[in-house]
Parts: sequence; C-alpha cells; structure tokens
Amino acid sequence: MRLLVTGGAGFIGSNFARHITAKYPEYSVIILDKLTYAGNPENVADLHVYENFYFVHGDIADKKFLADFFETMKPDIVVNFAAETHVDRSIIDPSIFVLTNIVGTQNLLELSRAYKVKRYHQISTDEVYGDLGDGSTNYFIEETPLAPNCPYAASKAAADLLVESFYKTYGFPATISRCSNNYGPFQFPEKLIPYFFLLAQENKPLPVYGDGKNIRDWLYVLDHCEAIDLILHKGKIGEIYNIGGHNEKENLTIAKTILSFLGRNEDLITFVEDRLAHDRRYAMDPSKIERELGWKPSVTFEEGIQKTFAWYEGNSVWLENLVKKHAITEHRQHLTVKSPASPVAAPKRARVAS
Ligand code: NAD
Repeated sequence: MRLLVTGGAGFIGSNFARHITAKYPEYSVIILDKLTYAGNPENVADLHVYENFYFVHGDIADKKFLADFFETMKPDIVVNFAAETHVDRSIIDPSIFVLTNIVGTQNLLELSRAYKVKRYHQISTDEVYGDLGDGSTNYFIEETPLAPNCPYAASKAAADLLVESFYKTYGFPATISRCSNNYGPFQFPEKLIPYFFLLAQENKPLPVYGDGKNIRDWLYVLDHCEAIDLILHKGKIGEIYNIGGHNEKENLTIAKTILSFLGRNEDLITFVEDRLAHDRRYAMDPSKIERELGWKPSVTFEEGIQKTFAWYEGNSVWLENLVKKHAITEHRQHLTVKSPASPVAAPKRARVAS
C-alpha cells in the first residue's frame, strides 16, 4: 500500500506520518510538501530510517508537477493535510489560501481520480461550521450547515464541497474529517499554545485577542491521528466525521495554564485588539465517529498539555531554529491589521444540534 501524506512536514501531517510508519511497516509512506514557512523537514528527519519512506518536495497547486508526481509514485491512498493554516495570515492575504487550499485540493482530486486511488481523505476543520456564539450550549454535528467566517475557513469549506462533489458526481472514494484545535509536538510556534509558551519562556507579554473568552475545543494531536487512521481503514466512503476532544477552553485559560506551568506571573497577559471576524465558540460533537468507528480520545487535556510542554522544553533547539529563521516573537506585530471603520458584522449563528 502506497500512502501519500500531503503537507507531511507540517504539524499534524508529520505526527500522522510517524504514526503510520510505526503502525504499518508494510506500507510505503510518501510525504509531499511544498515546505512553506510552516513545513519543516526536521519534523520527519527520524522517518528516513524506514526503507519505505519517501520525501518529495513539491506544490499541490502546481498541476503539471503533480501529474508527474502521480505518474511516478502512483499512490493507493491520499490523505490531504497540505494547506495554508493560519487564520491571521488569511485575513491579511487570502490569495495563497485559495490557491493551496482550493486549487491544490482540486488538483489532488483530479489526479487521484485519474490514477484510481483506493481512498482519498480530506483533512478539514471545525472552523467550516462558523460560530456557535457566546453562551451557546450547542455542538457542531456533521449536518450543521457550512457557514465559515474568515478566509481560511472559507477556503477549507470550499475544498470540502469539492471533495463531496467528486463523491456525488463520480462515486470517487472520498471521506472528510473535521477536527477541533490540535495541540502537541511539532506545532509551528505561531499557533496559540506554542506561541504563548515561547513568549512566556522569554518573559514577554502574551497578546490575548479581545476579552480572551473565545472558546476552542482542544485535542491532542495523536488522538487526531488515530481517528484518521480509523477512518481510512474502517470509515464509510462518502461520509464526513467530526472529531473533537470534549475539551472546551477559553483562550484566557490556555494562557493561564502556560504561565502557571512556567511559574510566570499572570500580569504577562495583555489584551489586544480582537481578530477580525473572530468566532466566539467552536465545539464538536464527535458521537458519530465514537459510535460507528469506536474512536475516543485517549489523552486527557491535563496529560496532553504536560506532554506538550515537556516536548517544547526538551526540543529547545528545534524551537530556537524556527524563532531565529522566522522572527517568531515579532510575528503578531507583522500580522496585525487595523479594523475597518465600520466593520461588516460577521454572521454569528449556525444551525446545530443541541
Ligand atoms: P501546518 O501549517 O503545520 O502544516 C501545513 C503543511 O502543508 C506544511 O508542511 C506546509 O509546508 C504544507 N503545504 C502548504 N502549502 C502546500 C502546497 N501548496 N503543497 C504542498 N504542501 C503544502 O498545518 P497543520 O496544523 O498541521 O494542519 C494540517 C491540516 O489539518 C490542514 O489541512 C488544516 O486545515 C487541518 N486542521 C488543523 C487543525 C489544527 O489545530 N492545527 C485543526 C483542524 C484541521
């Protein structure tokens, strides 16, 4: 079995490639990655010991390249992690998000169909459902209508619709999973947990958007990898599976957890101008994957966050290299955009199951 992991040099893709190579030594695992700022060959350096591991540098949005790649590698299974993933960047310039997340997905779908792959799996996100809103007690289910608010979420929703259209139109063997926020080893330090960890380590202020009461559901990355593995091997073609940790936390709580772990004072928390179209609450109902495939998160937040902090502390060289290369701790300043004088109110609703 030749399993293609696009975006495998990124955070979740690298964890997934490691999970698969260890669990299925009989599989060939091929990573295809453009190595954007978020892609790091060091994330999978340890996998080169596997005889059946391949790393290819390339862009899923480059159709000619991708056609040559498919002709040479002939994957049986495709799992598409490749994406531009940072919401703040999508607000400043959505164009690369459209190119990679939508056109790139379309290219992968066309070539996967032409080369008759046995399974295609699209990695999506809870953000495609939009905002549950303040004080809500509802959860996103697979039937919740797509109502993305930021360009990142819109590009992911568009990709999901393309994948669904290939299944409906051609009977193409696709599945989609939509997961909540991941945390764990190898996450690029522009994302909330490693970014705040880095700033707190340096005793720098932690810039919390708005009032810090935005809620996200957090899942340890290896639990996400296990869910994808189950979907690939037991999931039903044409289905969508929500994945979540039953673990909702306010951003402020995450900041305080990090400060407490590092023994820093909470006065490092600094409230900054809110992100545009900042959704208040996401929460997944993963009962379908639990019921149908027997998946359950195996790592509690308390265990997972300790493992994550320990990993970042134990991999300070990995972190320092990225900080130097990308001037990470200056990042948010670069990413700050001014609100328009009269911002267009983002829709704050989504039809959901209670
Ligand atoms: P990441 O930013 O860490 O990694 C993305 C990877 O894709 C990088 O290695 C990058 O080089 C590669 N890439 C980008 N453009 C490419 C292109 N045109 N061609 C080939 N490779 C390209 O992202 P992540 O956090 O690991 O997310 C992986 C997937 O999971 C994404 O599709 C994302 O939307 C989804 N997701 C992420 C989360 C999360 O919390 N991180 C939650 C739900 C869903």
